[in-house]
Amino acid sequence: MTTARPNADILTLRCHCGRLRGRVDASSSGRRRPGLHVVCYCDDCRAFVRALKRPELLDRFGGSAVWQTTPARITLDTGREQLACLKLSDKGMLRFHSACCATPIGNALGAGWPFVGLLRACLEVDDASAQRLFGAPTHVHGRLALGDVSAFAEPRASLRTIARTVGFLLRARLAGAQRPTAFFDAAGRPVVTPRVLSGAERDALRAADR
Ligand SMILES: [Zn+2]
Ligand SMILES: [Zn+2]
Repeated sequence: MTTARPNADILTLRCHCGRLRGRVDASSSGRRRPGLHVVCYCDDCRAFVRALKRPELLDRFGGSAVWQTTPARITLDTGREQLACLKLSDKGMLRFHSACCATPIGNALGAGWPFVGLLRACLEVDDASAQRLFGAPTHVHGRLALGDVSAFAEPRASLRTIARTVGFLLRARLAGAQRPTAFFDAAGRPVVTPRVLSGAERDALRAADR
């Protein structure tokens, strides 16, 4: 559970229709920020948003704004039964969303991973607060963007970005921040059975890029 501290920066997490609601503790303790702010232009992130039929959530180059943080910072308060999960392939990430109104919520790697990539689309946070709490975003996988983003995006993910991510995961794992988690049960299974897209479904979503 998230323990509220005085002046803690607690953000509201909610699906578009409001049935699924929760909180995210975005407060820093010490000098490190509690997550990594990313805009991802990869075709998997885009296919996820397209599978939900919410293309308006992509930026004009087909990117998704994500705040990568730890499961321990996320609490779902109401509407847990609305949580649904999609995988683009058998081996893909677990991409959680709301069933009620198809709001993307977060991407997870598995129960043991201290990682959830929360889509900005489910967070109540204005740009100024996002800048303050999350820092400026790193734009990654620009070579897969819908348009030329080379002026501000990394073509893939740079070594520096990969190193930051690995460092974040190692520190989070040492802190045990993979738990508690709203996304996996005690046995490490996702709390909802993921729907795995067929190859044809995935190809159709990717074809929308061309
Ligand atoms: Zn909803
Ligand atoms: Zn991506």
